[in-house]
Amino acid sequence: MKIYADHAATTKLDIDAFEAMKKYLLEEYGNASQPYSFSRTPKAALKSAREIIAKCINAAPEEIFFTSGGTESDNWAIKSTALIYGNNRATITSQIEHHAILHACHAVERMGYPVTYIPVDCYGVVRPKTLKDTISYNTKLVSIMFANNEIGTIEPIRELCDIAHQYGALFHTDAVQAIGHVKVDVKDLGIDMLSASAHKFNGPKGVGFLYLKSKTPLTPYVDGGAQEFGMRAGTENVASIVAMAVALEKSCRRIDDATNHLLALEEVLLDDLQKAGIDFIRNGSANKIPGILSLSFKHAQGEMLLHRLDLMGISVSTGSACDSQNTQLSHVLSAINVLEEYGYGTIRISFGHENTIEESRYIAAAIIKILK
Ligand code: PLP
Repeated sequence: MKIYADHAATTKLDIDAFEAMKKYLLEEYGNASQPYSFSRTPKAALKSAREIIAKCINAAPEEIFFTSGGTESDNWAIKSTALIYGNNRATITSQIEHHAILHACHAVERMGYPVTYIPVDCYGVVRPKTLKDTISYNTKLVSIMFANNEIGTIEPIRELCDIAHQYGALFHTDAVQAIGHVKVDVKDLGIDMLSASAHKFNGPKGVGFLYLKSKTPLTPYVDGGAQEFGMRAGTENVASIVAMAVALEKSCRRIDDATNHLLALEEVLLDDLQKAGIDFIRNGSANKIPGILSLSFKHAQGEMLLHRLDLMGISVSTGSACDSQNTQLSHVLSAINVLEEYGYGTIRISFGHENTIEESRYIAAAIIKILK
């Protein structure tokens, strides 16, 4: 049996998304920026994809900018905001962000722009009070992830966004793990910028978007042609953008059903482990992305578990995908102060809507077999 349970790392391309993109690779391959009739269809497809994606997060189409994915969108938000405001205004982010944010922040620090990395509580929640105690009228940007990729914790985005605005700062969120999995309404939450990546919601790899609230000041990230309203140059990846729109619309439509299914998968696995008397803790908050299970097993080795499960045909990860070569406690597990005797025995199981109850049972049985 082969079981893929690492959907927080990436997901399988949705079949309808795949079918939708074929036409723009083989037939309607015209450059969307050209004025002739051969480019009319790809141009219309881009427009339609932008409208569909905007609708999914309650944005306006002209507020959606296509990028190569979450990493690019994060870098754009962090670096361009720093450049616009100069080094007398500061950025605040959290200690548990993805490396796309943390390393972009380190880069702007090296250029002389101040960044503060605020701590989280033991559930991985950025407490609004912590932000309040740190922010000042000198803050230009607060960037806090919507949901954490290792432990699934969903952050109190509305409160954090309100605090940023009270101090005249912009609010950006890396919503790569949230979009398509939980409902996200940018207008209702008041978000100024949001990053998303198609391959986390059954879209293709290498494509994503940045939501940029209308009139928010930001410099272009990639200079060149006039694509993406002059903000992100480069010939558009029409086929992938079309597939991303199909995948996102489908994901958003099935959020409630998928949530129920994913919670059932979690319950079965946790139940079986508990019944077998396995000593483990589950990391993260109660308000989390359905399907992401960060489990720390007492006196176990996460790396050993990963490889033993792999030999049994099961794909899971330790911490985040980026840390899989790393035997140290991930920055997220360190930030939430997981007890050492548990921390090193951490694996992340992330279910997708395609996983079955039988698969969940099989994973639990495999873990029990390895640990007993
Ligand atoms: N942000 C978060 C929270 C992620 O989980 C990831 C991917 O793992 C990224 C950013 C990077 O996205 P991409 O793979 O599209 O560059």
